[in-house]
Amino acid sequence: MLQNSTTAGTVNHAANSSDTGDRRLPAGYPSRCAAMLPPGGDPASLPGLMNTSSDHDRALAILRGTFGYTEFRGPQAEIVSQLAGGGDALVLMPTGGGKSLCYQIPSLLREGVGVVVSPLIALMADQVAALQQAGVRAGMLNSSLSSEEARAMERAFSQGDLDLLYVAPERLVMPRMLELLDRARIALFAIDEAHCVSQWGHDFRPEYLQLSILHERFPSVPRVALTATADPLTREEIIERLALHDARVFLSSFDRPNIRYTIVDKADPRTQLLRFIRGEHNGESGIVYCLSRRKVDETADWLVTQGVRALPYHAGLDAAIRSEHQNRFQREEGIVMVATIAFGMGIDKPDVRFVGHLDLPKSIEAYYQETGRAGRDGQPADAWMAYGLADVVQQRRMIDESEANEDFKRVASAKLDALLGLCETAGCRRVRLLSYFGEASEPCGNCDTCLEPPETWDATEAARKALSAIYRTEQRFGAGHLIDVLRGKGGERITRWGHDRLTVFGVGADTDETAWRTIFRQLIALGLVAVDHQAYGALKLTEASRPVLKGEAPVEMRRAGKVSRKPSRATAAAAAGLDLQQGELLDRLKAWRLEQARSQGVPPYVIFHDATLTEIARRAPRSRAALAEISGIGARKLDRYGDDLLELLS
Ligand code: ADP
Ligand code: ZN
Repeated sequence: MLQNSTTAGTVNHAANSSDTGDRRLPAGYPSRCAAMLPPGGDPASLPGLMNTSSDHDRALAILRGTFGYTEFRGPQAEIVSQLAGGGDALVLMPTGGGKSLCYQIPSLLREGVGVVVSPLIALMADQVAALQQAGVRAGMLNSSLSSEEARAMERAFSQGDLDLLYVAPERLVMPRMLELLDRARIALFAIDEAHCVSQWGHDFRPEYLQLSILHERFPSVPRVALTATADPLTREEIIERLALHDARVFLSSFDRPNIRYTIVDKADPRTQLLRFIRGEHNGESGIVYCLSRRKVDETADWLVTQGVRALPYHAGLDAAIRSEHQNRFQREEGIVMVATIAFGMGIDKPDVRFVGHLDLPKSIEAYYQETGRAGRDGQPADAWMAYGLADVVQQRRMIDESEANEDFKRVASAKLDALLGLCETAGCRRVRLLSYFGEASEPCGNCDTCLEPPETWDATEAARKALSAIYRTEQRFGAGHLIDVLRGKGGERITRWGHDRLTVFGVGADTDETAWRTIFRQLIALGLVAVDHQAYGALKLTEASRPVLKGEAPVEMRRAGKVSRKPSRATAAAAAGLDLQQGELLDRLKAWRLEQARSQGVPPYVIFHDATLTEIARRAPRSRAALAEISGIGARKLDRYGDDLLELLS
């Protein structure tokens, strides 16, 4: 049984949670006061909407007119119809699946205001700004507002001047807010990041437990809870704690088809990382995860000396520096954030093009959650990890040396094994990943092992040599010493123990040290060898190694990775298949977008997503009508930016 996975991220309480004193919103951020609401932005007044009768037609008209998208994606249409009809819903969809529209459109369809509970204040402002760009009357209430601003927002809410109101959970359950809700007309309640009710998950927010009050106090208002957390336990907890027993459950596939998974053998990790960034993601946004703060600092510094715009992020940095770095990551293009897992749930940037791991995460859940921050916009993205023997040893040590009880250690150890299985598999990574979440699938064609099937080899003899070296040296030495023995390397340490007189001395001289390291790593991953941290990382035989030692069981291993032959995607333009001229146009469009974003004080993707700019560059529309056909350009954006774009394109 899976434990509570935490797909949406680990809350870094110091940096980005709670409704108290978030300092990341820049002063004068436009969505902070009601005065900045776009005038007359009611999408229901768009032409064509009033003549259609069925909810579905009206929903489609909003999708097209307001958001500029052609079709609903996956279960969106059904979810919209469930809520528009007054029913409850539980939506389980991976990051980037398109959860927001599931409550935004029914809020516009139904009479009254859609009230959205979201734990991430730092992101509310961006979400509200994005809605306002589309012409939706959206606002927010949280501690980042001054009391005058909050009062103005409450007034707008009471007067029915809003379509959507984002509220922090702790504020929603305050008596003042509840009374305000009593007097207003509410279209629906949307509870975002609903896994925050789970006391076993990493994102637990006590205020979420109080949200059951919404059901008691407003029984006739439809509710939707949304999460990207995949496991059944959390699902049950959400239903129980939010009293969603009658809700329709919409469970999507947790596949992220646009993410390409690659796991390479760690040799010289920094250089490998740099080659990956330069070769595939030059000038693009990405996140690189490291285990320790020190490694974060060192890696970021080094990348900067190599000309990569990298910034560090970890809990040891000053809160002000952390928030500045997060802000720059959100608002500038092409920043690479080197971070510990403290950089977590507050990331809502849709155009993160890659997530790299220089250290092994502790489970598949963690890997899926961290890599899931790439490619929310559905455009091609990479999950890249370098992994080696030392990673396995280090993670095992962390489990062994933790203060936790034996049960916990056993679970942690099993989770690590599952992740090692993913690292060592010669089959499709995605199949392995999804099967861990209980989903069957076919080889994907978009992971390293599908693109370049690794060779396997009969490692039975090598495994026997390695195992017998462990046995002959009395299971008291680490991989380094064992490799010296196998390779017949002399030296004081070897002779002191008399290991140069063993039968295994020099039997592996034909295999180089790197190859032996790979073999030992795979022996550990296969469970044939265990690491004993009480004995300074000595390798020991396991029960499973017995038949191999006796020559009764064969061992197959992956051959160590070679240099990749797969086509490089050095730039977004190349990845999107744009030619040189179109690529230049894309650059100009991005420069224009950045200027717009700066002058309005919003992140660039709030103006247009990369996918929209890419399509403009590809199709080079010459008229407003042609522009309107591009995905992501709704009526309001066409009005506001159409002339600018056409001038750029002429
Ligand atoms: P989630 O909250 O599930 O992570 P979002 O709601 O942020 O995902 O949506 C992810 C991306 O997909 C956004 O860029 C959004 O604009 C886009 N998107 C959502 N629904 C559609 C659709 N029907 N057609 C095109 N793009 C969509
Ligand atoms: Zn695959």
